[in-house]
Amino acid sequence: MAQVTIFGGAGSIGGNKIHIREGSYGLLLDFGIDFSIYSRFYGDFLTPRSGRGIYDYLHLGLLPPIANYRQDLTPADLTLNGMPEIPIDALLLSHAHMDHVGLAGMLDTAIPLVASGTTLGLIKAMQDSGPARMGSDCIYTKERIPHDERTLISGRKEAIGRDLIVTDAMTDSFSSLISTIPQGKGATITASVSALDESKIPFSIDACPVDHSIPGATGFLLGGDLSIAYTGDIRTHGRENTGTSRFVDAARAMGTLIIEGTRLSREEEPSYSEVSEEEVAWNCRAVVAEENGLVIADFSPRNIERLAIFQEIAERCGRQLVVTAKDAYLLQAMAACGHLNLLPSLMMHGGFSDPRMAGWKKGLSEHISPVSSEEVKRDPGGYILCFSLYDLVALPDIDPEGGTYIYSTCEAFNEEMALDAARLHQWLDRFGIRCHGLPGRSPGSSGFHASGHASPGDLEAIVDRIDPDLIIPVHTTAPEWFSKRWEQVVIPETGEAIIC
Ligand SMILES: [Zn+2]
Repeated sequence: MAQVTIFGGAGSIGGNKIHIREGSYGLLLDFGIDFSIYSRFYGDFLTPRSGRGIYDYLHLGLLPPIANYRQDLTPADLTLNGMPEIPIDALLLSHAHMDHVGLAGMLDTAIPLVASGTTLGLIKAMQDSGPARMGSDCIYTKERIPHDERTLISGRKEAIGRDLIVTDAMTDSFSSLISTIPQGKGATITASVSALDESKIPFSIDACPVDHSIPGATGFLLGGDLSIAYTGDIRTHGRENTGTSRFVDAARAMGTLIIEGTRLSREEEPSYSEVSEEEVAWNCRAVVAEENGLVIADFSPRNIERLAIFQEIAERCGRQLVVTAKDAYLLQAMAACGHLNLLPSLMMHGGFSDPRMAGWKKGLSEHISPVSSEEVKRDPGGYILCFSLYDLVALPDIDPEGGTYIYSTCEAFNEEMALDAARLHQWLDRFGIRCHGLPGRSPGSSGFHASGHASPGDLEAIVDRIDPDLIIPVHTTAPEWFSKRWEQVVIPETGEAIIC
């Protein structure tokens, strides 16, 4: 009898941390950060104390009470007494969104990571280019040393890597991407899931590419002594939609289905509930064609499908598409993982001449041309800037007179995001920029974003087709939606084992 324990993602959207146990063996499915808990305690300038390692995270319920964390993040005054060490033979990551991978770096470095090459490449690129945040040091890390009983400090210079197991074909460009671990000893990288040594672990792991709003998303089928399918985050349209149907077909052989239900809870979402990527492309193109001044498109360029849409629009409208340095770096990593290389057709906002520039940025200069704020200011109608709210700090330099902002990303679903939306409007009002796509604020707001998650109708079709013996809903605030439709539903409680 296998046990499924949901340590995160029960009754909340994101923060998935799912433990599967069979005897003395075990697997984790995702180890993400639950932003609904995090934002209850923390915000922009209010963050967990880095010197206290996992202490604050455990005390506030951001990490589950287990004893499988990195020794060097455990301060001497933290007693792990009573917290069980659970068997974790591998951590399987469904995709590179923070609510699925954001705390993985806190787990014992002896635990290997299993994921698609794209997911691992993206996580590494985000780690290289992002702020040094505990938990995000997932692919490689620098061990800390105790300063006193309570405080841990960065002590070691050398980075250590984790063992990585890639679930799809490993190319040379991927190997060289992942092996550029700074000053490190380097991780062991293996190309196949069978490297987990099936003779020792009585599980088989099948990784199926599925469609979501980030490339590399994977659903997992756990066989052998288990019979469990895990969707990760999933949708039925988009470029990988055939992957999604292959996953659903293969999952019919599985007894237990762990399924996401993101869109069951967001009442405000019907505005784009049935919007497809094609409609998004059509609507955005119409708006850009009518604008003579600056266009700003707000979406995550990690969503490479949306990026390709805007690249095509820019080309048709005689504009240059401009991304931030960080996004250029992530695109470079995705190209190394076999995705469409859009870098040669893009420009990067900013320059390469700053001597203080971070190491990761330097290598970009061979792949993408820079464009400065002054150049955009001289010819605002010549560009589409892929900017989010946080990049608008450059607007005083560009000083546009009017223009259009296309909000092509998910809408506010918590207070923090609502506050961001209010700030966004202050910026746009200040520069006389019109906004499209921000629900409740701009006229005709729908049709500029397609959700990365399955609609309720699609979820119903997925469950009916798989027809599992047991359904465990996660990543939703409305798990009861499932029990109203099917009898074999167990609504998980955080930390309580479900026998299946
Ligand atoms: Zn996601």
